[in-house]
Amino acid sequence: MRLNRYLAQAGVASRRAAEDLILAGRVAINGHIVRELATVVDDDAHVTLDSKPIRVAEHFTYIVMHKPYGVMTTMSDPEGRPTVADMLPRSLPRVVPVGRLDFDTAGLLLLTNDGELAHRLMHPSFGVRKLYRVTVLGELSQKSLESLRRGLRLEDGPTAPALLRVIKVTERTTILDIAIHEGRNRQVRRMFEAIGAPVEKLARQAFGSVELGPLAAGRWRHLTAREVAELRATTTPEHEPPQ
Ligand code: URA
Repeated sequence: MRLNRYLAQAGVASRRAAEDLILAGRVAINGHIVRELATVVDDDAHVTLDSKPIRVAEHFTYIVMHKPYGVMTTMSDPEGRPTVADMLPRSLPRVVPVGRLDFDTAGLLLLTNDGELAHRLMHPSFGVRKLYRVTVLGELSQKSLESLRRGLRLEDGPTAPALLRVIKVTERTTILDIAIHEGRNRQVRRMFEAIGAPVEKLARQAFGSVELGPLAAGRWRHLTAREVAELRATTTPEHEPPQ
């Protein structure tokens, strides 16, 4: 496997950014700095970045979890709060979350040790669709719904157009589905705050083509081969030659 791909699969950086690390002399194989981009990594090679060992998993693991409310999307927490790692058996290979759900958000979370796919799924250029079920207080005017759909101004810039569907209006709340292609920090909550409708409940229903389905809160399953293939297909740049 070529060195830039090896670094990408280990989750270090995208293939392109990995080339910059190689050219900067930060990568070594078996103790020798390599600056040659075409270098091929042998199976038993010891690869380091800034002298720290880098390893690619032999077999990738892909997991979908139903993260409950009140759980950190991290593998450990210095403050001792429950984390998604607490919900996985120790026998599983080490995986990391693909992106983040807030402590107070529930729903679909992907975890994997395929660093390259994880990187791509999070990269804004691929615009992977994320679908959320939102409960907000009060009723929303057509004008508010339209501005959410068209995109509105947040402090870190305008949001891209979103798909929106009102599911149910009750005396106190409105329940909607919103699909966004970006993944900014607390984006959904901030979008609804911007129209004066604080989010009461937020849960992710789908990530790209992967759906939460009937998976109960706190449970997880392996992705099917088909689901992995679909995620790969949506994040394969046409211009990048296979390596
Ligand atoms: N948007 C949010 O506001 N929070 C999340 O956890 C995910 C998307």
